[in-house]
Amino acid sequence: MDREVTVDLEKFRKILKDERHKILEILKAEKENDANSNDQWSEPKDPEDLANLTLSDDIRTKICEREYQTLKEIEEALARMASGKFGMCERCGKSIEEERLELIPWTRYCAGCSKEFGKSR
Ligand SMILES: [Zn+2]
Repeated sequence: MDREVTVDLEKFRKILKDERHKILEILKAEKENDANSNDQWSEPKDPEDLANLTLSDDIRTKICEREYQTLKEIEEALARMASGKFGMCERCGKSIEEERLELIPWTRYCAGCSKEFGKSR
């Protein structure tokens, strides 16, 4: 039972943070352009903040749920990193292939499990 994660955590932490930053910039820009909102932009600090982030339906439709979902996945991936579970498949417990992490750093399943799920994550 080898539960040791051999992936380069620092590398993926950087990728995740960069990606997170990119999406937050998009959200911020959209929110600032939103004439219907008087809320001040404040960067969400944790997943709970993120859930409370108020975005008008307009913005949500525009930046589409996809980016927002990705942002949530990234937050969760960072949380898994903090708890030492990053890079482990949540379903079978095996290490996730590094090439797969390169492609989708916030993935929570290995290639095999993901295929079974038929989901693109
Ligand atoms: Zn798996």
